[in-house]
Amino acid sequence: MESVLAKFRLDGQVALVTGGARGIGLSIAKAFLDAGAAVALLDMDLEAAQAAAKQLEEELSLSSAVDADNLPRVIALEVDVRDQASVESAVAKLTRRLGRLDIAVCNAGICINTPALETSLETWQKVLDVNLTGVFLTACAAARQMQKQGSGGSIINIASMSAHIVNQPQPQASYNASKAGVIQLTKSLAVEWAQMGIRVNSISPGYIGTDLTLESKVLKPLIPIWTKATPQERLGSPDELQGIALYLASHASSYATGSDFIVDGGFTSV
Ligand code: NDP
Repeated sequence: MESVLAKFRLDGQVALVTGGARGIGLSIAKAFLDAGAAVALLDMDLEAAQAAAKQLEEELSLSSAVDADNLPRVIALEVDVRDQASVESAVAKLTRRLGRLDIAVCNAGICINTPALETSLETWQKVLDVNLTGVFLTACAAARQMQKQGSGGSIINIASMSAHIVNQPQPQASYNASKAGVIQLTKSLAVEWAQMGIRVNSISPGYIGTDLTLESKVLKPLIPIWTKATPQERLGSPDELQGIALYLASHASSYATGSDFIVDGGFTSV
């Protein structure tokens, strides 16, 4: 019988991670590489994604940059998740270069903090386009490839605890609404694709220290307020999402689909 730890291995599998150049996406990509998968980092910022791919190869000291079939273990590609043609082209390119696709992490996301009454239609649309439409386009492009292969797959959408609660004091109705949409989209796709063996789940992180939070002039000063409101009294680090992401990507979670997994240091329990 396969040991429980063996179920977490991803040897021979191929994953894509959108927004993979930094932060949570990069950390998840690293976990997947560590578990044996080949990974495509898809990002708007191609240079940053290329630098991240190089750094991953060095950090993991991959004995070889290629796998047993002479295919690369990590590549970087440009994508704008708002643009269907861009997403489909990236999935086609990565499939050509890495041979297949088994796991998709729809992670790219943005947050714009404006009060609802001061949010322009353009800003509202931009947040929804990246955070919700981007997840839909990426998940569908990945599922089409998985359907062609006929061997199922795992899709992991990065939602947020903001799908469940309203963050304070920063105003972010567009972000909160987009992330709530990700959770219901996740459930809908899970039901539609279950018979194809494609599982779809979401992760809802609490406050995590990344560029999105630490480099934002609006958000950074709020960190003491957030930590006080978090039972663990600190922000999470991106590597604290690696375990749940690997669980959902791997056969260890074979009966999990349509679910959201909150990882927030206890924030939403208060
Ligand atoms: P970062 O800002 O650190 O990284 C996000 C990455 O996504 C960047 O590389 C960014 O590229 C890329 N990106 C943005 N827009 C697009 C696009 N249209 N197409 C392709 N790539 C794009 O964010 P985090 O790592 O913090 O966040 C990752 C995910 O986790 C997001 O969905 C976020 O909402 C979610 N999350 C984050 C939390 C946190 O506290 N950090 C909490 C809960 C959820 P570029 O820099 O060039 O714009």
